[in-house]
Amino acid sequence: MSLDLAALRAQFPILSRQVDGKPLVYLDNAATTQKPQAVIDALVSYYTECNANVHRGAHALADEATRRYEQARDTVAHFIHAASRQEVIWTSGTTEAINIVANGMAQRLKAGDQVLVTEMEHHANLVTWQQACLRSGAELHIAPIHDNGELDVEAFARLLNQQTRFVSLPHVSNALGTVNPIKDLTAMAKAVGALVLIDGAQGIAHGQVDVQDIGCDFYAFSGHKLFGPTGIGVLWGREALLENWPVWQTGGEMIAKVTYECSTWGSLPNRLEAGTPNIAGAIGMAAAITWFMQLDLNAVQAHEYALIQAATEQAEAFNGLTIIGNAKNKVGVLSFILDGSHPADVGFILDRQGIAIRTGDHCAQPLMRRLGVPGTARASFSIYNSLDEVNALFTALKKAQSMLA
Ligand code: PLP
Repeated sequence: MSLDLAALRAQFPILSRQVDGKPLVYLDNAATTQKPQAVIDALVSYYTECNANVHRGAHALADEATRRYEQARDTVAHFIHAASRQEVIWTSGTTEAINIVANGMAQRLKAGDQVLVTEMEHHANLVTWQQACLRSGAELHIAPIHDNGELDVEAFARLLNQQTRFVSLPHVSNALGTVNPIKDLTAMAKAVGALVLIDGAQGIAHGQVDVQDIGCDFYAFSGHKLFGPTGIGVLWGREALLENWPVWQTGGEMIAKVTYECSTWGSLPNRLEAGTPNIAGAIGMAAAITWFMQLDLNAVQAHEYALIQAATEQAEAFNGLTIIGNAKNKVGVLSFILDGSHPADVGFILDRQGIAIRTGDHCAQPLMRRLGVPGTARASFSIYNSLDEVNALFTALKKAQSMLA
């Protein structure tokens, strides 16, 4: 079955706008995805019908807001196959989710312990662990990649040992699109007794994520990369771990009892959620997930594959263009350099033609250094992109090349 692309695109109002008099070609989906009308409607409905603070009020609006907010948690739990709704912690995004875990680990790690990440990390999953290691005295180890952007799995295996307490890995690289074999890598890490976090910021929108099947201990993702609002995300963790996890921030619903001398914490999921949450964000994220789940995911994946295939074929045939990262298993991202030009100049010229890409280090400076490039131009595709848009990208690149020559 194929996607009805025209009908799908019609659900995203922003896709019909123009930039500089040209139809918008939005190819910056790894940074953030656009929002379907269903998500916009859910946000408007919350604010127009039942805006109130959750859990605390003794009135109808508060009850309704709480019901919608907690139903949103159920939607997430169902989507990722969590064992229970207690395992779904609302965060402001992937970054905060990783910070909650790293902050807790920093209190448990000691000198001699090891944390393992990879050479392809987004800063959110590198700097956070650097900090945890600095605070605890643990060592940070980095699993290398091959030149094509795939993880060197043998080197990864060699770096695992009895001292490895934690392994944190990206599901999909934001800079290169490499899809990691997270199920196998998780099994290898679990075999030495390490806890495993998967940074799912890029993985979540490209297929069905089943946290039970992956076998990891934590999975972190953001709403805005999954057609939902910004400022909302999820930390999924195993209940047995989360119920004793060091609290992250204090105040609000995470409290059980407070005296002037000391306080005790409530139970999951609230114990890791301090302060008034992003209620509208949670509801909007659930609307995005509900919208996403009604699509034929096989057709979605086939379409995404066709886009990256077409883009890669055109890139390979393009004289003077170097693809950065050509892993066998890759999704959504074409990173490249137009030889002799700075990626920022390429991005600027494309923008004048209505084509939105991202340029720079993609919050992965060490990865760029490893690959020997200052940065790349990155076209990242989502389910609403078309093959015509892939063609438009390459037409615009020809123009950029001639202007920059
Ligand atoms: N990890 C990866 C792989 C990402 O691509 C991103 C964002 O681009 C993040 C983490 C951070 O996500 P957020 O900024 O939504 O917290």
